[in-house]
Amino acid sequence: MPELPEVETVRRGLQPVLEGARLVRVEARRPDLRFPFPARFSERLTGKTITALGRRAKYLTMHVDGGPVLICHLGMSGSFRIEAADGNETPGTFHHERSKNSTHDHVVFDVETAAGARSRVIFNDPRRFGFMLFAEGVPDTHPMLTGLGVEPTGNALDGALLASLLKGRRSPLKAALLDQRLIAGLGNIYVSEALWRAGLSPLREAGTIAKGGKKAREQAERLAEAIRSVIADAIAAGGSSLRDYVQTDGSLGYFQHSFAVYDREGEPCPKPGCGGHIERIVQSGRSTFYCRTCQR
Ligand SMILES: [Zn+2]
Repeated sequence: MPELPEVETVRRGLQPVLEGARLVRVEARRPDLRFPFPARFSERLTGKTITALGRRAKYLTMHVDGGPVLICHLGMSGSFRIEAADGNETPGTFHHERSKNSTHDHVVFDVETAAGARSRVIFNDPRRFGFMLFAEGVPDTHPMLTGLGVEPTGNALDGALLASLLKGRRSPLKAALLDQRLIAGLGNIYVSEALWRAGLSPLREAGTIAKGGKKAREQAERLAEAIRSVIADAIAAGGSSLRDYVQTDGSLGYFQHSFAVYDREGEPCPKPGCGGHIERIVQSGRSTFYCRTCQR
């Protein structure tokens, strides 16, 4: 499943093509994905100009003049492909390879810039867990987005805020960090990575870093910084994969993001001087990778 950095990479890849362009033609090739397409899907978008392409957690939001706002989720296997005069690209492919099988092309957006340049943006989704819905007005009030927690990007998430979110929580730290009502868009891979960077065990009780006192405050600050940096680094890596892709000869710009602990069971811990090994454990049915030597 694409995580937030991939969705943000998709957004950044689509932004230059879509923002400011007019939707000349919109085609949904089936009645539904995970959910049915909204009523008059094509009709309500066609002819409109895209004013902004945003993101909230793992949802893309496409704002058009006069509304509605298109909320799009990539699901398990969704991707966007851009077909333009100067070549094709599939932004956001840096961890999970994306399908190019055209039988799974479900939505086609034909757009035209003010200067008359035409491109085609295609949504492909073999497993059809993705979806597109309309929000009327502010997307944050849509049932899919309301109740989402703080973004793990930017500077909003600091130690004090993280401590206030985790205060009194008895669940394992990893489970609390995956709770989308607390932090929105932080997924399984990046939680393992952030906990390793912060030197905190995924098994410790979440509330322990919110107990007050100097040590807990430092742990909360370290974890907040680790979460922000792990996401920022992954987004930056996605950006570089986009640039790399342009230089290749038409082969897919597939970038294997390098993780410190995720999917590295049995390997030496990469923290200098640690000497421990990465273990895999299962928490709430999901794999957790961590080093018990340096993560306490
Ligand atoms: Zn270690």
